[in-house]
Amino acid sequence: MGIITGNTAVYGVIGNPVAHSLGPLMHNKAFAGLGHPGVYVAFETRDIGQAMDGIRALNIRGISVTIPHKETIVPHLDQVDDTARQIGAVNTVVNDKGKLIGYNTDAYGAVKALTEKTGVKDKDVVIIGAGGAARAIGYGMLKAGARVYILNRSEGKGQKLAAFLGASFYPLTELSRAPCDILINTTPVGMAPNVDEMPIEPEQLTDRMLVMDIIYNPISTRLLASAEKIGANVIDGVPMFVYQGARQFELWTGLDAPVDLMKKVVYKALKE
Ligand code: NAP
Repeated sequence: MGIITGNTAVYGVIGNPVAHSLGPLMHNKAFAGLGHPGVYVAFETRDIGQAMDGIRALNIRGISVTIPHKETIVPHLDQVDDTARQIGAVNTVVNDKGKLIGYNTDAYGAVKALTEKTGVKDKDVVIIGAGGAARAIGYGMLKAGARVYILNRSEGKGQKLAAFLGASFYPLTELSRAPCDILINTTPVGMAPNVDEMPIEPEQLTDRMLVMDIIYNPISTRLLASAEKIGANVIDGVPMFVYQGARQFELWTGLDAPVDLMKKVVYKALKE
């Protein structure tokens, strides 16, 4: 972060809880790296409507939105872009001279994290989970030309998401029935402190799958370690986190985000 002056623009993340967020570290290092006069802070937020009034009143320039506000924020915005509207969730707000515009950069982040390693078009992508992240990622994968299969613990919720996306549904235990080039875990299973857990059995993995886990704490989950052990390629949760943040940075500042710096900062913080 540079020196704060009267011209420093304020950005932040709203959610509850937010104290653990890596957003402040990542965005402040990115502002400093490019010499952009901005500061990014964490706002623990209970009332989303009041928070939006505050953002307008104080001319806060940009906001990241996290759990539990990604869906409930929508009616409080002046405009929502097409992607966010179709996904039904906003993770980014741009304050354009008092007009609050909502975007969703999670789908972009996930697709970018994959496409820097492999093509997505015409691939069979299996998504484990049927929550908000699965909805954004499923949408992004379909837009990128993949075929999508949803696997979820609760069948009703999984079937509902599959129907919403126009994808197929399989129960969590039936991964072998779904064709799978790319497997993406979007559940919190395996996240610290429950690092010994994984959402499927290791025997369900094959070495021809590319396995991505969107959990980034720990960097290498048990799912990824099991996949690596049998020779499968893996992608951890940091690239998606960084690319969704990089897109936010670009929407707020109009500058190209310093992606390598942002990755370095996030990996370093997670390893400490
Ligand atoms: P969510 O809406 O609460 O959805 C969670 C999903 O996980 C649900 O489908 C749920 O299944 C499933 N699940 C939860 N516990 C499970 C268990 N013990 N066994 C099997 N399935 C289980 O959460 P979300 O917003 O999608 O976020 C999910 C994860 O993604 C979080 O860990 C979050 O930190 C991470 N995330 C990472 C990034 C990134 O940039 N890397 C971005 C967004 C989110 P049921 O339907 O059966 O309840």
